[in-house]
Amino acid sequence: AAKTAVKEGAPEKADAGEPTIFDKIIAKQIPSDILYEDDTALAFRDISPQAPTHFLVIPKHRDGLTQLSKSEDRHEKVLGHLLHVASKVARQENLTHGFRVTINDGQNGCQSVYHLHLHVMGGRQLSWPPG
Ligand code: IMP
Repeated sequence: AAKTAVKEGAPEKADAGEPTIFDKIIAKQIPSDILYEDDTALAFRDISPQAPTHFLVIPKHRDGLTQLSKSEDRHEKVLGHLLHVASKVARQENLTHGFRVTINDGQNGCQSVYHLHLHVMGGRQLSWPPG
């Protein structure tokens, strides 16, 4: 049988304090293709793009936001900011015909990195529903 490209989510981590690969990207300890940065957010290209344009938007200070389902009232502002950054960078990347913003949450949501991130994908006709 042909191998499918479907990935699986990692089980949710009990500890919200464990560092992830994104901490090294934020600290510039490993290289990444950064598209936007401010005090709160960082946008960089996904290393395994699922569309001609595929970037991630993350909070620089995780502050307990390992995943969307852990959001608290204090996160409301940063969550809004991340969406606006997604929009601004999509514009910067000329995604004029539309794009998709996805947040994978937990194992069923296929989340693999437990530091909240928005996927922004565009540059081709996407299909719906997702798998
Ligand atoms: P998730 O599966 O929704 O948690 O998304 C994690 C994303 O991070 C995947 O799309 C990966 O390709 C991406 N990723 C993992 N490591 C790196 C990296 O070092 N640079 C850029 N993207 C990464």
